[in-house]
Amino acid sequence: MPDPLLLDDLLLSRTAIDRAAHRRADSDWQEVRRGDGETRVLWLAEGATGVTEAEGGVRLVFSSATDLPLGTDISFLGVDALDRAYFSAHLQDRSAAPIRADWKSLREVGRALSDIDAGLLVTAVALDNWRSATRCCAKCGGELTPRNAGWSLHCVVDEADHFPRTEPAVIVLVRDGQDRALLGRHINWPPGLVSTFAGFVEAGESAEAAVRRELTEETGVVIDDHLDAVQYLGSQPWPFPASLMLGYHAWASDTTIKVDETEIAEADWYSREELRAACAAGELKLPSAISISRRLIERWYGEELPADWSW
Ligand SMILES: [Zn+2]
Repeated sequence: MPDPLLLDDLLLSRTAIDRAAHRRADSDWQEVRRGDGETRVLWLAEGATGVTEAEGGVRLVFSSATDLPLGTDISFLGVDALDRAYFSAHLQDRSAAPIRADWKSLREVGRALSDIDAGLLVTAVALDNWRSATRCCAKCGGELTPRNAGWSLHCVVDEADHFPRTEPAVIVLVRDGQDRALLGRHINWPPGLVSTFAGFVEAGESAEAAVRRELTEETGVVIDDHLDAVQYLGSQPWPFPASLMLGYHAWASDTTIKVDETEIAEADWYSREELRAACAAGELKLPSAISISRRLIERWYGEELPADWSW
């Protein structure tokens, strides 16, 4: 029976920042804020950012905006509840950042951050990955220059504007008539690691159609025709490099497994008792707490999964 409540507290969906998008084109306002000692700058380089250990977790390390080196490539992230402005700075080489910190990736520290730090870092990483992957105009190959406080790139040749890409992907936990869950192992994963099934939404396709197509392509299992057999449960940005994961539960009509062997090496149906026994024995490992896959499994399982069942 579908549970209509959406997943709450997805770790990378947390945020406590007002993006204040109307300020992106306001260069006067930005100049004032860049001269304000309260304004904070988050530094990104080589897929990592500066962090420090703090009581109960990890904190991002910011610099002031008043001593930004000339020509630093920055993006405006938003303002907090105290109206303090935040920018991200994008570097090739972390040694140029004016901070003293440990450098860690979002994957490493995402779950240990506060809501405000998590929201800031996810957005900054998404922008950083987009900028790294967008070196010239996709229409004419011309040179691009940042606009709108880092939220668009403008072609100096044909005046085309380019915006950060977000690529929708679906991820689904499928259940059968005995309320078992279908889990599988990607061909690139070592034996014992299993997860739910995921894939990109294709051009011209709805998310629900993508859920049905991906599942059957990868496992042979067919989802029931009824509309309610595919239930949306929430979304989480996954900026590695540019995905938005749309999470679902779905109910199968044909449970016969025939894996494609190009993406999925093996798949199986698990009752809660079978999953508990296999994980407790160390025979199976499940995705980490930062992933929406973990939360989809927990929703089915009925409670939070023990941390030592993770990859
Ligand atoms: Zn162009």
